[in-house]
Amino acid sequence: MTSQGSRVRVRIAPSPTGMFHVGSARTALFNWAFAQQRGGDFVLRIEDTDASRNRPEWTEGIIAALDWLGIRRGEYEGPFFQSANEERHAEAARRLLDGGLAYYCSCTREQVLARTGDPHRGYDGFCRDRGLAAAPGRALRFRVPDEGVTIVDDVVRGKVSFENATIGDFPIARGDGSVLFLLANVVDDIQMRISHVIRGEEHLPNAPKQQLMWTALGHLPPAWAHVPVIVNDKRQKLSKRRDKVALEDYRAEGYLAEAMRNYLMLLGWAPPGDREILPWPAMIAEFRLDQVISSPAFFDVRKLRAINGVYIRELPAAEFIARSQPWLAPPAAPWRPDAFRPEAFAQVAHLAQTRIGVMSEVTALVDFLFLDEPATDPQAWSRAAAMPGAREVLDAVARELATAEWEPAAIRAVVERAGDRLGLKLSQAQAPVRVAVTGRSAGLPLFESIWVLGRERTVERLRAALAAL
Ligand code: GLU
Repeated sequence: MTSQGSRVRVRIAPSPTGMFHVGSARTALFNWAFAQQRGGDFVLRIEDTDASRNRPEWTEGIIAALDWLGIRRGEYEGPFFQSANEERHAEAARRLLDGGLAYYCSCTREQVLARTGDPHRGYDGFCRDRGLAAAPGRALRFRVPDEGVTIVDDVVRGKVSFENATIGDFPIARGDGSVLFLLANVVDDIQMRISHVIRGEEHLPNAPKQQLMWTALGHLPPAWAHVPVIVNDKRQKLSKRRDKVALEDYRAEGYLAEAMRNYLMLLGWAPPGDREILPWPAMIAEFRLDQVISSPAFFDVRKLRAINGVYIRELPAAEFIARSQPWLAPPAAPWRPDAFRPEAFAQVAHLAQTRIGVMSEVTALVDFLFLDEPATDPQAWSRAAAMPGAREVLDAVARELATAEWEPAAIRAVVERAGDRLGLKLSQAQAPVRVAVTGRSAGLPLFESIWVLGRERTVERLRAALAAL
């Protein structure tokens, strides 16, 4: 029996059949943190043997998603493609056949069902000793011992025991010689000298089968670690149909890579102490594979958003401005590109930085500065227009701002005075002014907003609002 050696070598083995899933991202990060912590290697293997479902752009997407998370090309081995290793897969299947550890089977599903009467039972072994040759339509099955148990020693779950009798002889290749995923995955892992298979819980039922094949091929199995399934707020497994699962969609919404990476590390593991926000080097140092829990991990979008907000607020001012740029130009921004004024944005950036949970929210906070007319929210407008004293306030503020000293405190004093004369609190007097100038009922601090917008445009908007009353 050959052991894989003591060097830590881990891999992720995504199939390029769709957008890179947050669950795959979490698994990638656990592998990456573990490899970095142990001074080991990380391998990217693209499991592309299902030609009908693969697309090259999905492979590109996987590489780009990893890069975004900080798993950079050149710092890991690969990408390797499973499809490039088909000869070795076939050779392993032949060895198992020649060694009597696999046999050809001609049974159809219906035939097996007719005999066993139970769709959940494994294969009944009908062809085990018939000595059939390869032929189209025949499957090569792995011969599972009749008795005993296969114990998967899992770093996360402890020893998980599977009755061999219930596993049943399972297919490893088709009649045309093409090898199925379960065996291909094992052959590649052996060849790549993988020491730890860290992957999603959904693969746990495969582990006893794969472990039997590792042994049958003459190798000690790897350490297994099946990390918990990720569920939504209804405790359902995250799914493409129901939930937002593509890492790319989170990126597009303005989650920062550092925040996403931090949050994903918390899906099934928690740093010691009450800390949840840890810079990546601390993550590597503190991560403990054997402390990953086996119960489902809740993908809590609100918590992700809160963590993202913390990361946003921690950005140095210039960095925040730089990272805002994608949301300040088309297609994200609704204004003409030449209407954008970088100096105006720089003046309000620090105010926006403390008020957003995702970067995409920056657009609506500052659009009043760059649109010719504010994007008036009709509900906010009708409420503001109905407020007692709205007309008088707008009129007084428009007149006084035409000549007032142009700085936030003086602007505030104008609005305050207009309110005072009508017995209104500042918050009441401010409301119609805010809607008139910014189009919305909430946003950045009003007096700074007006100050940055400028006298001429402010007065113009107040007059337009009066005319519309
Ligand atoms: N190709 C499999 C998947 O994408 C990988 C399974 C494994 O990590 O062993 O789920």
